[in-house]
Amino acid sequence: MFAKAEDLLAVVQPSSDGREIIDPATGETVGRAPEHERADLDAAVEAARAAQPAWEARGHAERSALLTRAAQAVADSAEALAELLSREQGKPLNGPNARFEVDACAGWLRATASFELEPQTVSEDAELHYRPFGVVGAVGPWNWPMMISVWQLAPALRMGNTVVLKPSEYTPLSVLALVHVLNTELPDDVLHVVSGGREIGEALVAHASIDKLMFTGSTATGKAIIRSSADTVKRLTLELGGNDAGIVLPDVDPAGIAEDLFWGAFINTGQTCAALKRLYVHEDVYDSVVDALARVAAATPMGIGLDEENVLGPLQNKAQYEIVADLVQAAKDAGARIVVGGNPADDQRGFFYPATIVADIDDANPLVAREQFGPVLPVVKYSSVDDAVAMANGLDVGLGASVWSADRERAKAIAARLQAGTVWINKHGAIDPRVPFGGAKQSGYGLEFGVEGLKQLGQPQVISG
Ligand code: NAD
Repeated sequence: MFAKAEDLLAVVQPSSDGREIIDPATGETVGRAPEHERADLDAAVEAARAAQPAWEARGHAERSALLTRAAQAVADSAEALAELLSREQGKPLNGPNARFEVDACAGWLRATASFELEPQTVSEDAELHYRPFGVVGAVGPWNWPMMISVWQLAPALRMGNTVVLKPSEYTPLSVLALVHVLNTELPDDVLHVVSGGREIGEALVAHASIDKLMFTGSTATGKAIIRSSADTVKRLTLELGGNDAGIVLPDVDPAGIAEDLFWGAFINTGQTCAALKRLYVHEDVYDSVVDALARVAAATPMGIGLDEENVLGPLQNKAQYEIVADLVQAAKDAGARIVVGGNPADDQRGFFYPATIVADIDDANPLVAREQFGPVLPVVKYSSVDDAVAMANGLDVGLGASVWSADRERAKAIAARLQAGTVWINKHGAIDPRVPFGGAKQSGYGLEFGVEGLKQLGQPQVISG
């Protein structure tokens, strides 16, 4: 059990050199992460391959028991993990942020251990089984580094695969620490992590001894991975970028939905794949929805993550900060109205961008049409639901979407017309370890979570006769 982030850093940092990791809230050094080389990757894959048959032979019940113990190890070190995550990623301890993410890691491990997956009888003489692939590679992003690693590794291990993870170069310490804690309960060599930049990700993806790859990150990287997987016909699960739309119908109570709308958009300071990124509001309630959102945005504290009162934090890195600042500036220049926010202090040490609501903006504006991945919500006015549906479906991504209405049946009928992997009614971004999650269009393919998620980590095999 680890009591403090410093205790975790002491076990995951290299004795010398490595990559310097900066706290995005303060500019201070958090620590140093190992910079693994190709030979380290090969050694990890080889060790994972050697450990796989014995891991498979333990069977579902024993693997589930070990995953449940690993979940408890995360819970026992939760405060230390949350503190490290907050310092490295920037997200506050409180709100739906660092403590929430660490709790979700334990919750997802427990849930994934609990699912039943029996062989399925598909005809009088045929059964469908799911066998492990072998070694699963997993490459992840910087926004929810621990939770997304668990989404990848938990079903992979449960199904009898061994795993090699490659975290984002922006947030490796969180994942190294999480893996260290998990490995206090797991057998040797079933779970490895290699840390480094894009090159080590490329090498993992192309590795001939990786049988299946789980990737969560941008659509551009996902496309590169599809290309590089061709030579080995590697199985892929791709959770890629989004730009989620929400449609607000005229029958809502604006003040009543403002808080849920706000958190649907600003969870993790907007750095969430399935966050609300474009809001289409009927003209009858447009002004009152915009005003209600602006009131919540102005009242929500942003600052250094370790200060208990904050629930919004900085952007994780400078490149992301600049994308957000440039898109808001361009929207302003094009005549959009900045209702609240939009004016970052230029003498600050961290990458803080204020929570920003943008009104009177055209649907074609890049702040609407591109995934800005920050604490900004553009609100577009519509007068006919058909137009709102057409605008929502107008992009080539489709991760999540939402419909907001007092009439659930009407909302469901509109949901059925939206091109997205999940459509929420009167909420946005709510996920559950039992409920499958995945993207439509260029937001990726394959499903995570639940029994459907387990099936994606197994090679289907029919036994007939
Ligand atoms: P990114 O694609 O830049 O990087 C993700 C990971 O891929 C990093 O570990 C990086 O080192 C590695 N990588 C980069 N190029 C690679 C290559 N050619 N081959 C192999 N690995 C490579 O993404 P990011 O900026 O870290 O994350 C933000 C993006 O992730 C956003 O677009 C967001 O929507 C998306 N995302 C999607 C989901 C989802 O579930 N659909 C969840 C979280 C984030």
